[in-house]
Amino acid sequence: MTADDTAGLPAAPEVVQIEVGLLQNFCEILYCPDTRVAAIVDPAWEVDRLLREVERLGLKVELALITHTHEDHIEGVGELVAKTGATVVVNPREAERVRGAGGPLADAIDGRDVAIGRRGVRALETRGHTVGGTCYLADGWIVTGDVLFVGGCGRTDFAGGNTAEMWQSLQRLMRLPEETRVYPGHNYGETATSTIGHETRSNPFLRCATFEDFRAVRERKRKA
Ligand SMILES: [Zn+2]
Repeated sequence: MTADDTAGLPAAPEVVQIEVGLLQNFCEILYCPDTRVAAIVDPAWEVDRLLREVERLGLKVELALITHTHEDHIEGVGELVAKTGATVVVNPREAERVRGAGGPLADAIDGRDVAIGRRGVRALETRGHTVGGTCYLADGWIVTGDVLFVGGCGRTDFAGGNTAEMWQSLQRLMRLPEETRVYPGHNYGETATSTIGHETRSNPFLRCATFEDFRAVRERKRKA
Protein backbone atom coordinates (compact mmCIF):
# COMPACT_ATOMS: atom_id res chain seq x y z
CA MET A 1 0.00 0.00 0.00
CA THR A 2 1.26 3.43 -0.88
CA ALA A 3 1.52 6.07 1.80
CA ASP A 4 -0.52 8.53 -0.22
CA ASP A 5 -2.86 7.14 -2.83
CA THR A 6 -3.63 10.62 -4.15
CA ALA A 7 -0.06 11.64 -5.08
CA GLY A 8 0.14 12.73 -8.71
CA LEU A 9 -3.42 11.85 -9.62
CA PRO A 10 -4.44 12.84 -13.16
CA ALA A 11 -7.18 15.42 -13.70
CA ALA A 12 -10.56 13.95 -12.79
CA PRO A 13 -13.13 12.93 -15.40
CA GLU A 14 -16.67 14.26 -15.21
CA VAL A 15 -18.94 11.79 -13.45
CA VAL A 16 -22.62 10.97 -14.00
CA GLN A 17 -24.24 8.62 -11.48
CA ILE A 18 -27.24 6.57 -12.61
CA GLU A 19 -29.28 4.10 -10.55
CA VAL A 20 -30.10 0.97 -12.55
CA GLY A 21 -31.78 -2.39 -12.19
CA LEU A 22 -33.58 -4.20 -9.44
CA LEU A 23 -30.93 -4.20 -6.71
CA GLN A 24 -30.43 -0.44 -6.38
CA ASN A 25 -27.15 -0.65 -8.30
CA PHE A 26 -25.30 2.52 -9.17
CA CYS A 27 -23.56 2.83 -12.49
CA GLU A 28 -21.29 5.73 -13.40
CA ILE A 29 -20.45 7.29 -16.72
CA LEU A 30 -16.99 8.87 -16.44
CA TYR A 31 -15.88 11.11 -19.27
CA CYS A 32 -13.30 13.54 -20.54
CA PRO A 33 -15.04 16.80 -21.48
CA ASP A 34 -12.37 17.64 -24.08
CA THR A 35 -12.12 14.38 -26.05
CA ARG A 36 -15.63 13.05 -25.11
CA VAL A 37 -14.04 9.66 -24.35
CA ALA A 38 -16.07 7.79 -21.73
CA ALA A 39 -15.81 4.83 -19.37
CA ILE A 40 -18.77 3.01 -17.85
CA VAL A 41 -18.41 1.57 -14.36
CA ASP A 42 -20.00 -1.85 -13.76
CA PRO A 43 -22.38 -2.19 -16.72
CA ALA A 44 -24.93 -4.75 -15.59
CA TRP A 45 -28.45 -3.43 -15.94
CA GLU A 46 -30.23 -1.23 -18.48
CA VAL A 47 -27.32 -0.91 -20.89
CA ASP A 48 -29.68 0.62 -23.45
CA ARG A 49 -30.52 3.40 -21.03
CA LEU A 50 -26.84 4.01 -20.25
CA LEU A 51 -26.06 4.23 -23.95
CA ARG A 52 -28.90 6.69 -24.53
CA GLU A 53 -27.32 8.91 -21.89
CA VAL A 54 -23.93 8.45 -23.56
CA GLU A 55 -25.45 9.55 -26.85
CA ARG A 56 -27.23 12.51 -25.28
CA LEU A 57 -23.90 13.69 -23.86
CA GLY A 58 -22.11 13.12 -27.17
CA LEU A 59 -19.64 10.59 -25.76
CA LYS A 60 -17.71 7.63 -27.10
CA VAL A 61 -17.41 4.65 -24.73
CA GLU A 62 -13.93 3.19 -24.85
CA LEU A 63 -13.74 1.47 -21.45
CA ALA A 64 -15.74 -0.57 -18.98
CA LEU A 65 -14.29 -0.31 -15.47
CA ILE A 66 -15.16 -3.26 -13.25
CA THR A 67 -15.17 -2.88 -9.47
CA HIS A 68 -15.76 -6.62 -8.96
CA THR A 69 -17.38 -9.48 -10.80
CA HIS A 70 -20.59 -10.26 -8.95
CA GLU A 71 -23.34 -10.70 -11.52
CA ASP A 72 -25.18 -7.53 -10.55
CA HIS A 73 -22.09 -5.55 -11.59
CA ILE A 74 -21.10 -7.31 -14.83
CA GLU A 75 -24.21 -8.83 -16.37
CA GLY A 76 -24.28 -6.17 -19.12
CA VAL A 77 -20.56 -6.22 -20.00
CA GLY A 78 -21.12 -8.46 -23.05
CA GLU A 79 -23.87 -6.20 -24.38
CA LEU A 80 -21.79 -3.06 -23.80
CA VAL A 81 -18.76 -4.59 -25.52
CA ALA A 82 -20.88 -5.74 -28.48
CA LYS A 83 -22.36 -2.26 -28.93
CA THR A 84 -19.25 -0.13 -28.27
CA GLY A 85 -16.14 -2.31 -28.58
CA ALA A 86 -15.09 -1.17 -25.11
CA THR A 87 -11.98 -2.55 -23.42
CA VAL A 88 -12.83 -4.18 -20.09
CA VAL A 89 -10.61 -3.05 -17.21
CA VAL A 90 -10.66 -5.60 -14.39
CA ASN A 91 -8.42 -6.87 -11.61
CA PRO A 92 -6.48 -9.92 -12.90
CA ARG A 93 -7.73 -11.99 -9.95
CA GLU A 94 -11.28 -11.71 -11.31
CA ALA A 95 -10.63 -11.41 -15.04
CA GLU A 96 -11.75 -14.97 -15.75
CA ARG A 97 -15.32 -14.06 -14.94
CA VAL A 98 -15.58 -11.44 -17.70
CA ARG A 99 -13.45 -13.16 -20.33
CA GLY A 100 -16.61 -14.55 -21.93
CA ALA A 101 -17.94 -11.05 -22.57
CA GLY A 102 -15.84 -10.88 -25.71
CA GLY A 103 -14.03 -7.59 -25.42
CA PRO A 104 -10.33 -6.96 -25.00
CA LEU A 105 -9.26 -7.04 -21.35
CA ALA A 106 -6.89 -4.70 -19.54
CA ASP A 107 -5.57 -5.21 -16.02
CA ALA A 108 -6.64 -2.95 -13.17
CA ILE A 109 -3.37 -2.88 -11.22
CA ASP A 110 -3.14 -1.40 -7.74
CA GLY A 111 -1.83 2.16 -7.89
CA ARG A 112 -1.83 2.38 -11.67
CA ASP A 113 -3.75 5.08 -13.55
CA VAL A 114 -6.33 4.36 -16.24
CA ALA A 115 -6.59 7.10 -18.86
CA ILE A 116 -10.05 8.30 -19.93
CA GLY A 117 -9.24 10.70 -22.76
CA ARG A 118 -7.06 13.41 -21.17
CA ARG A 119 -8.45 12.63 -17.71
CA GLY A 120 -7.94 9.54 -15.61
CA VAL A 121 -8.61 7.46 -12.51
CA ARG A 122 -6.35 5.31 -10.35
CA ALA A 123 -7.09 1.66 -9.57
CA LEU A 124 -6.91 0.85 -5.86
CA GLU A 125 -7.05 -2.84 -5.02
CA THR A 126 -9.45 -3.12 -2.12
CA ARG A 127 -10.07 -6.77 -1.33
CA GLY A 128 -12.46 -8.17 1.22
CA HIS A 129 -15.84 -8.25 -0.53
CA THR A 130 -14.18 -10.22 -3.37
CA VAL A 131 -10.63 -11.39 -4.16
CA GLY A 132 -9.93 -8.64 -6.68
CA GLY A 133 -12.18 -5.81 -5.60
CA THR A 134 -11.08 -2.49 -7.05
CA CYS A 135 -12.00 1.10 -6.28
CA TYR A 136 -11.34 3.82 -8.85
CA LEU A 137 -9.92 7.00 -7.34
CA ALA A 138 -10.00 10.36 -9.11
CA ASP A 139 -8.83 13.76 -7.96
CA GLY A 140 -11.68 14.60 -5.55
CA TRP A 141 -13.83 11.47 -5.64
CA ILE A 142 -13.78 7.68 -5.60
CA VAL A 143 -15.98 4.90 -6.99
CA THR A 144 -16.12 2.32 -4.20
CA GLY A 145 -18.14 -0.60 -5.65
CA ASP A 146 -19.31 -2.92 -2.90
CA VAL A 147 -16.44 -2.05 -0.56
CA LEU A 148 -17.86 1.13 0.98
CA PHE A 149 -21.53 2.16 0.96
CA VAL A 150 -23.14 5.25 2.41
CA GLY A 151 -23.58 4.08 6.00
CA GLY A 152 -22.37 0.57 5.29
CA CYS A 153 -19.80 -1.74 3.74
CA GLY A 154 -19.90 -4.85 1.58
CA ARG A 155 -20.49 -8.33 2.90
CA THR A 156 -17.51 -10.58 3.44
CA ASP A 157 -19.28 -13.93 3.60
CA PHE A 158 -19.50 -14.62 -0.13
CA ALA A 159 -16.92 -16.74 -1.98
CA GLY A 160 -13.61 -14.84 -1.98
CA GLY A 161 -14.72 -12.56 0.82
CA ASN A 162 -12.39 -11.90 3.73
CA THR A 163 -13.26 -9.79 6.76
CA ALA A 164 -9.63 -8.95 7.64
CA GLU A 165 -8.97 -7.77 4.09
CA MET A 166 -12.15 -5.68 4.14
CA TRP A 167 -10.95 -4.00 7.33
CA GLN A 168 -7.61 -3.19 5.68
CA SER A 169 -9.35 -1.85 2.58
CA LEU A 170 -11.61 0.42 4.62
CA GLN A 171 -8.65 1.69 6.64
CA ARG A 172 -6.97 2.60 3.37
CA LEU A 173 -10.05 4.49 2.13
CA MET A 174 -10.23 6.37 5.43
CA ARG A 175 -6.74 7.78 4.76
CA LEU A 176 -8.03 9.63 1.69
CA PRO A 177 -8.73 13.36 2.06
CA GLU A 178 -11.95 13.75 4.02
CA GLU A 179 -13.63 15.84 1.33
CA THR A 180 -13.25 12.96 -1.18
CA ARG A 181 -16.72 12.24 -2.58
CA VAL A 182 -17.82 8.59 -2.39
CA TYR A 183 -19.77 6.96 -5.24
CA PRO A 184 -20.88 3.57 -3.92
CA GLY A 185 -21.98 0.50 -5.91
CA HIS A 186 -25.51 0.47 -4.49
CA ASN A 187 -28.03 3.02 -3.30
CA TYR A 188 -28.30 1.60 0.22
CA GLY A 189 -27.78 4.79 2.20
CA GLU A 190 -29.75 7.86 3.15
CA THR A 191 -28.07 9.76 0.33
CA ALA A 192 -26.77 8.72 -3.07
CA THR A 193 -23.21 9.84 -2.36
CA SER A 194 -21.23 10.85 0.68
CA THR A 195 -17.70 11.88 1.60
CA ILE A 196 -14.87 10.01 3.28
CA GLY A 197 -15.07 12.45 6.19
CA HIS A 198 -18.80 11.98 6.70
CA GLU A 199 -18.47 8.20 6.54
CA THR A 200 -15.53 8.21 8.93
CA ARG A 201 -17.69 10.05 11.47
CA SER A 202 -21.01 8.27 10.94
CA ASN A 203 -20.58 4.88 9.24
CA PRO A 204 -20.73 2.17 11.94
CA PHE A 205 -18.15 0.08 10.09
CA LEU A 206 -15.67 2.94 9.90
CA ARG A 207 -16.24 3.98 13.50
CA CYS A 208 -14.89 0.66 14.77
CA ALA A 209 -11.66 1.24 16.69
CA THR A 210 -10.27 -2.26 16.27
CA PHE A 211 -10.54 -5.16 13.87
CA GLU A 212 -12.31 -7.22 16.54
CA ASP A 213 -15.02 -4.55 16.84
CA PHE A 214 -15.32 -4.42 13.07
CA ARG A 215 -15.67 -8.18 12.75
CA ALA A 216 -18.43 -8.21 15.36
CA VAL A 217 -20.37 -5.43 13.61
CA ARG A 218 -19.86 -7.08 10.20
CA GLU A 219 -21.19 -10.39 11.47
CA ARG A 220 -24.29 -8.75 12.96
CA LYS A 221 -25.34 -7.09 9.71
CA ARG A 222 -26.00 -8.87 6.46
CA LYS A 223 -26.41 -6.86 3.31
CA ALA A 224 -24.92 -6.67 -0.21
ZN1 LIG B 1 -20.89 -7.51 -4.80
